[in-house]
Amino acid sequence: MTCKENHRRHLSPDNQLGPSSLLLKVRRGVLSTMACLLSASTSSAGGSIIGNGAGLVENNFAYVYSILPNSIEECFAFKNCDLSTSEQSLLKKIQNVLSLNKSLKTNIEFVSEKQNPGFFTTGDNEDHRIAKTCLDNSCPIYVNLDLLYDKDGKPALEIPTIASVLIHELGHQAGEGSHTTLDILGSKLRKAFLLKISSNKLLTGTSIGFVVSIINQKFPFQYSDLFVGFEDQAPLNITQELMKEVHCSKTEDALAGFELYNGHFLGSLKSADNSPIINYGLWINLSCFNEEREEITSETWEIEFSLPKNLIPEVTKNQKISLE
Ligand SMILES: [Zn+2]
Repeated sequence: MTCKENHRRHLSPDNQLGPSSLLLKVRRGVLSTMACLLSASTSSAGGSIIGNGAGLVENNFAYVYSILPNSIEECFAFKNCDLSTSEQSLLKKIQNVLSLNKSLKTNIEFVSEKQNPGFFTTGDNEDHRIAKTCLDNSCPIYVNLDLLYDKDGKPALEIPTIASVLIHELGHQAGEGSHTTLDILGSKLRKAFLLKISSNKLLTGTSIGFVVSIINQKFPFQYSDLFVGFEDQAPLNITQELMKEVHCSKTEDALAGFELYNGHFLGSLKSADNSPIINYGLWINLSCFNEEREEITSETWEIEFSLPKNLIPEVTKNQKISLE
């Protein structure tokens, strides 16, 4: 089964179910779906953005855009975004725009206001010109490159704020003209994203910190994305490399979902060429599906790994723990 077919199967609209029935529904081919999803978030970042797309914030824009369809489904399936009836119908229109936009070559374009004076000035009463788009999806979302980093080159926008900006602009593409309505909807999505993300930073002796971020997704099944990297670089999604080392304790069980949490730094060492080797630990909850018994059990593992210069994780500890 190809990634495309597999996605279509699991992302079909009839999948708007609660968490337990959802897990049962994804029991077959779940590993290949997971592999596709895990690689999708990095590969989709490449094709959909234009401009100076090399930095951390530009990459986060592309990443958030790629997970928005599933994050919106989470809002509906888990009722965790505190949406009014009219906001629900607006978000459904945004879902529709996201699905129509899949065929577009460019979804986000980064433009420097300084190099194109007046580009982000529209004359209406919207003062925060971080982005603009059309009242349909005939143009991409233009993002103001000059506002993505502060004067020291540090990211000025975090992932939850990026989600609110994208929801605002996608709302315009869905035909909504009111900036206020979209700001409120954007802030609700921002809140939902804040709960999905945990991030921590290690100072390595320079002004540039090393950041590890875990982003938890509940739709179409529970999984997490794990990003690592120095603050001044595009983050690397290492979930797939890490999950290669992780298995349910019974070999006949298939992995039906996982959640990374309790992430913590274990310090850093210097390698022979003086580059830091970062040591990191986290816990993983695994949902293990037994096909014969049609039963899902969960188990918790403690993982520790090192990140050498190439940031490919080398697992140093992988042990099942009991939480009784
Ligand atoms: Zn607006």
